[in-house]
Amino acid sequence: MKFWQQRERARDILSKEVGYVSKPHGGRLRVALAFPNTYFVGMSNLGFQTVYKLFNAENDIVCERVFLPPKTELAAQLADRAPLVSIESQTPVNEFDIFAFSVSFEWDYTNVVTLLRLAGLKPRAAERTHRDPLVMIGGAVTFVNPEPLAPFADVIAAGEGEALIPSLLTAFKGASDRDDLLRRLVTERGFYVPSFYDVTHRLDGTIEAFVPKADTGAPATVKKAALKTTEAVDPPATTIFTPDTELGSRFLVEVVRGCANLCRFCWAGYNYLPVRAFPKDRILQLAESARRYSNHAGLVSIALCDHPEIEEILTRLVDMGYSISPASLRLDDLTPTILNLLRKSGERTITIAPEVGSDRLRRVINKTITNDEIFAAADMIFASGFENLKLYFMIALPTETDDDLVAIRDMTLQLHEIMLRHQRGRGHIGRIVGSVNPLVPKPGTAYQWLPMEDDKSIERKIRRMKSLLAGIDNVYFNIKSERHSFYQALLSLGDRRVAAAIEAAERNGGNWRAAVAETGVDADFFVFRDRSADAVLPWDIIDGGLKDHFFRSEFDKALREEWTLPPKRQKDNARLLPLLQ
Ligand code: SF4
Repeated sequence: MKFWQQRERARDILSKEVGYVSKPHGGRLRVALAFPNTYFVGMSNLGFQTVYKLFNAENDIVCERVFLPPKTELAAQLADRAPLVSIESQTPVNEFDIFAFSVSFEWDYTNVVTLLRLAGLKPRAAERTHRDPLVMIGGAVTFVNPEPLAPFADVIAAGEGEALIPSLLTAFKGASDRDDLLRRLVTERGFYVPSFYDVTHRLDGTIEAFVPKADTGAPATVKKAALKTTEAVDPPATTIFTPDTELGSRFLVEVVRGCANLCRFCWAGYNYLPVRAFPKDRILQLAESARRYSNHAGLVSIALCDHPEIEEILTRLVDMGYSISPASLRLDDLTPTILNLLRKSGERTITIAPEVGSDRLRRVINKTITNDEIFAAADMIFASGFENLKLYFMIALPTETDDDLVAIRDMTLQLHEIMLRHQRGRGHIGRIVGSVNPLVPKPGTAYQWLPMEDDKSIERKIRRMKSLLAGIDNVYFNIKSERHSFYQALLSLGDRRVAAAIEAAERNGGNWRAAVAETGVDADFFVFRDRSADAVLPWDIIDGGLKDHFFRSEFDKALREEWTLPPKRQKDNARLLPLLQ
């Protein structure tokens, strides 16, 4: 796409938007903020909108957005070599001081490389010069395991934007040049400069150490930056409304951050601790002012009902005339009042995550709820008039046997029976839609040392699940292929050496098998190896707050089929797991 065509497209986008920020550049720190996917996907991402708002809330910063062009135009734009421009002022990205990325998903890693190339920059930090914008990579994935992206970043921002941006601005204001800036940043919490470390390896290929280079001031590990409390902080909420997004003009607002349940596989649960609720009054004020642009509120939280005032928030949103979509509901917090409010707002489907079908395996993963409680919750859901139920299950978990797979089928049948009991007389039967995914062990969880289960075994379990769940009326399951999860695991569990495969996959259009073969990256080494004897894990460079001995004891408890803390003890969790030293 030629330069003038990009400008026209950007102006067309702006003409349909409400709420974007336009500031003069003069005298300000200029930040081009990229979402490594298309406008359509990126504008529905609350994290991206929040960082945009936080940057622009600083008078000394001007932040403009950048997206991946639509697939149909990408090749032409790369061939034309027309510089990638920002949406707001259509300024070429390479004229900004900072090119920042907000990365939420592993599958977008190749798009980071594409955007760097579109901007006329070398993808690898080592090949760029001091005249290029500072490339900063942040977002949810980077405070779990930034290493596969490390060679592309001048700086990795690990943690929550609210805590990172003020330190970034201070460092920029005080810095005399690029080197000085990097040295200042590493003294601040959450900023990791990959080039300031030598990574040494043992003969078996595992990491021996991250060694900070002399005179850089880089710390041995980088402490994640996080807010201690959300009391004085505005809840993240949609600020730019446009009809051209995945979720349409939906008003998204974060209600509560974190989840205290401590499921042993869940990186989000461990990494957003402690649980912090945003102030109810501010959530409602923002919803009030967004009402003229939106009829639909999306409540973003991994454990919505952990907000102590959730019932009042829902009541007021319904009174404002919003239809409401909750991102996820933890089963143990559901009440008839909450369900009635959601139903009243027009919602017809509830999503729940039993994860597994047996109480035994649920103790292994520390999902502190029983089958009986799940059936009671389903009864309450269908009694409140909901038509459909969406279910999430996992397979390939430690200690799993065939009985556990059969238990998923049995649970589905029982839920189906509960649905029929409530709906038979009504003349319309809803749907149960389930998804089954193999466990991808995640960094920063109790399962971080586990190898992923081998592909033949997973394929066998997938076939078994498909046959167990076939032919049940009104029940539809989506069961993911093993290969999809394998490359996701490589990006989750890899280290800097995986960057070569990311570059190759970017060049060849996403053929990961060929990318791994071409670059000689030993994917099995990263995915199928038991890491419990490794001295250092790739993600150990970021100190997320939870210590190894805690994760190890959680893993041992998993094997003993023990729960850690009973549900409803969020206060105890926060006290026992002090993240923010
Ligand atoms: S309940 Fe859900 S969000 Fe909370 S820790 Fe478990 S899986 Fe994660």
